[in-house]
Amino acid sequence: MSPSLFNLGYLLAAVLFIVALKRLSHPRTAVRGNLYGALGMLLAIAITVKISIDRPDISGTGYWLIGIGIALGALIGATFALRVPMTGMPQMVGLLNGFGGGASLLVAGAELIAKMNEMEQPGFSDEALRFFIGSTMVAGVIGAVTFFGSLVAAGKLQELKWVPSGNIIPGQQAVNALLFLLIVAGAVWGTYDPTKMWVFWIIIVVASVLGVMVTTPIGGADMPVVICLLNSYSGMAAAATGFVIGNNGLIIAGSLVGSSGIILCQIMCKAMNRSLPNVLFGKLAPAEGAASADDVYAGKVKSTSADEVGMLFDTARRVVIVPGYGLAVSQAQHAVRDLANTLEAKGIEVEFGIHPVAGRMPGHMNVLLAEANIPYDKVREMDDINPSFEQTDVAIVIGANDVVNPLARTDPKSPIAGMPILDVDKARTVIVVKRSLSPGFAGIPNPLFAADNTLMYFGDGKKAILDLVAAVKEAG
Ligand code: NDP
Repeated sequence: MSPSLFNLGYLLAAVLFIVALKRLSHPRTAVRGNLYGALGMLLAIAITVKISIDRPDISGTGYWLIGIGIALGALIGATFALRVPMTGMPQMVGLLNGFGGGASLLVAGAELIAKMNEMEQPGFSDEALRFFIGSTMVAGVIGAVTFFGSLVAAGKLQELKWVPSGNIIPGQQAVNALLFLLIVAGAVWGTYDPTKMWVFWIIIVVASVLGVMVTTPIGGADMPVVICLLNSYSGMAAAATGFVIGNNGLIIAGSLVGSSGIILCQIMCKAMNRSLPNVLFGKLAPAEGAASADDVYAGKVKSTSADEVGMLFDTARRVVIVPGYGLAVSQAQHAVRDLANTLEAKGIEVEFGIHPVAGRMPGHMNVLLAEANIPYDKVREMDDINPSFEQTDVAIVIGANDVVNPLARTDPKSPIAGMPILDVDKARTVIVVKRSLSPGFAGIPNPLFAADNTLMYFGDGKKAILDLVAAVKEAG
């Protein structure tokens, strides 16, 4: 088969990736978008396997090895994907990024070993040699940082005790800067002196250490942003590997992953009103002199029961449900759908308000609500639903905390100052479903829980909502 036919195939795969990204941006089209992406990847893999088989240096054994590799990878990937709970998704994505980075590193290293002898033959210009070595260095370094950084990130999210957390050595940021400079110097040296190929392996070891050292100090709860960044790195490593092996499909797919990962980072940072450097090098901690939980809550919190909340719906005309991380933990999405159906059967208008960073990964709440078949037109984004809270009779907050904390509006010293929030406090009555007065991810008290119009309905999210559905049905 001719190379132009292969390139045409890669182009088609790239078009499928772009269409997939576009469709993934809306829940209604996301499932089909995912299928297009998978189809594009299948096509790209098939073309690459065909090119490999046609290479004279790949023997029958190599062909079998490719087959075994694909079968094993597919089996392990499918098993993990089917078994992982929704709350474990960020670490799963983290691991997949890491494998992407590791694969780029291995391919670049193998190609370096295979090609070096060939490149020293007459016929290869210095420029071609430097381009090849330079791309290999970039692919290897980013791949190593991504692989080791992702392992640490996934381990921290999984709360594995043996994964290092915090600064491992004094002055870690300065040491990281030094390691980075060493890598750049080594890469430039290796690129301009092809006789010193051992430099590649040295900088890979340094990059592996850097991957661990840049990730350990970042707060566990900031890990989803870091995972997105590492996702972007894995794309960049893949694009560089595309240059190493002259594969246009890999260059395009890697660039798409690299750019979409960085855009997602920006969206998450904006929704938390934080900058990327603040996430990477700063700490999310309560400000000195901030009000303690006792100051905020003492004597002001009113708790309620399922029967009491059930009675509120006798006069309510509009209810907004605001889910947060606790919905994911308690897997309350199906119970919430039953609640919405029960209220609608009483003639009450029900909508859902979604904050862009509710939960622990972008789109976390949308995925859960879609799983429970809650119609998309009832699920509204923050900016869209905020103006309607003043006309809302009851706002039900389920397992959300930071995304409804009014301190973001009122306290400029708060760690969440300036973060846009869902204005549930403006509703006539607010019901907050959670197990205790424990803080959320930002670790700060929430004055909403002590507000005059708030009733705390303590309990596990799923059980509390099921009890509430029973109470509403019983009350008729
Ligand atoms: P929070 O982490 O602020 O609060 C979650 C609340 O859920 C807790 O206060 C907890 O209270 C409650 N909860 C936990 N388990 C249960 C349960 N079984 N039943 C009922 N309630 C439960 O979550 P939010 O969704 O409000 O905010 C997300 C936070 O994560 C934001 O600060 C955001 O910046 C951050 N973040 C989000 C990312 C994303 O992409 N979505 C990425 C990075 C960070 P209690 O223990 O009392 O039950």
